[in-house]
Amino acid sequence: LADERLTDADLLADPVGKVVAVGGTRHASIPLPADLFPDRANSGGIDLQDAPTLADVAGTIAAHRLSPAPADAGDVAGAIARAQAAFPAWSARPVGDRAAVLERLADLLERDRLPLMAICVGEARKTIPDALAEVREAVDFCRYYAVRARADLADVELPGPTGERNVLRHGGRGVWATIAPWNFPLAIFLGQTVAALVAGNSVVAKPAPQTPRIAEAAVALAHEAGVPADVLQLVPGGPDVGAALTADPRVAGVAFTGSTATAKRIAASLLADDDRPIVPLIAETGGINAMIVDSTALPEQVVADVVTSAFRSAGQRCSALRLLLLQEEIADRTLEMLAGAMDTLVVGDPADPRTDVGPVIDQTAYDRLMEHREQSRAQWIKTVAAPADGLFVPPTAIRLGSVDALTREWFGPLLHVATWAAGTLPQTIERVNAKGFGLTMGLHSRIARNADVLEAHARAGNLYVNRSMIGAIVGSQPFGGEGLSGTGPKAGGPHYLPRFAAERVTSTDT
Ligand code: GLU
Repeated sequence: LADERLTDADLLADPVGKVVAVGGTRHASIPLPADLFPDRANSGGIDLQDAPTLADVAGTIAAHRLSPAPADAGDVAGAIARAQAAFPAWSARPVGDRAAVLERLADLLERDRLPLMAICVGEARKTIPDALAEVREAVDFCRYYAVRARADLADVELPGPTGERNVLRHGGRGVWATIAPWNFPLAIFLGQTVAALVAGNSVVAKPAPQTPRIAEAAVALAHEAGVPADVLQLVPGGPDVGAALTADPRVAGVAFTGSTATAKRIAASLLADDDRPIVPLIAETGGINAMIVDSTALPEQVVADVVTSAFRSAGQRCSALRLLLLQEEIADRTLEMLAGAMDTLVVGDPADPRTDVGPVIDQTAYDRLMEHREQSRAQWIKTVAAPADGLFVPPTAIRLGSVDALTREWFGPLLHVATWAAGTLPQTIERVNAKGFGLTMGLHSRIARNADVLEAHARAGNLYVNRSMIGAIVGSQPFGGEGLSGTGPKAGGPHYLPRFAAERVTSTDT
């Protein structure tokens, strides 16, 4: 971690909170930033000179928590056995008690926000705005699922004939496996996990191999909040650990975020054994996400939203814009403006508050992205300067001959651009659908009817009209896709928790 002081007033643009622009992404939720830096709340601007440095914070963390060692198959089996033994007592607790534990966890996440942000920067190489958004989203998941649990997992009296009482109840299913990605190593790791917990399950959680420390910190906080140690256990490691976990017939459900290929392997492993119970799989995977822009769109807004959607977080979001589709008549002008906007992007050290685009997660990702970028050199529309040492993939816009030319997801700051002909909006949307993914899709148009066309034709879980396509907000934009992009219900939405529960109806002759 660089020894950078958190001094950038731009980081937290609205000192009052409510809706804050952070890194081009809107976040409504907990009352930050006044809350984040209390002694600076009324200074009329955010001056963070006295905030701890990232290096100070990382040092504190290192002194208190060790990097967790990878688990092996024996550890996984042991964790599942303990989780199974701990399940009945946890499941028997009233849902309100479990919801209260989530709310305590949210308080603890807020208490430890700076160390948590520091680990996100240090371990996942997140920019500071992204690290802040990460902690806030984790808090949002805890608070939202606590509220929803009380409402959605309560007993429901159902109608019936006189003399009969029917009650729908929600119980835990048993041991859930939650498998998290490195790109949201705190928010998604915890979101999946607390959803399973509040529904009355015990959990064996596997973080991504790149990000075990933030997961370990999150689990420690969950234990401090009141989740019994055996009810939530961490099994760090790579694909072998994940495979051992999902292959175990004692696992009663899996919540996964990651690649489509891994989701399919998990689905196959859940069905491999004839004797195994049929268990739910919630999967959130990738996408070839398109933004379609017609000639009525506001160019300045389009460009700002394209830059945010394609390049923020170094393009390392499932939701990120991969394929920009410009109506032919406006393509040249829009691309000229986009090139100008890309020139303003600062690529560099994620611990520097001025940085817009940090490095990609690891050498494998870097090599894959740089090879594709190099092979596309003849089609570059625009690329920008980036430090040569480190895993910095220069944000690059690449021209394609047609909508159909992009056939895979490039998980980084590489934007592909094609054009479409006036009068073919439905067909263009269908060509995007034909790629088989269905996570996010965007439209920029000032013709209201075109938004109806998008809704009628797009097979994607999250549609964004005249705005950016990233940063879904818990409770407002339930997130998740269809087709190759996964299977719901959507995280942060009203139908998520019941999927983690066993629904049982008792009918009593009174
Ligand atoms: N929910 C995030 C967003 O809306 C993306 C999650 C992911 O990348 O897995 O940007």
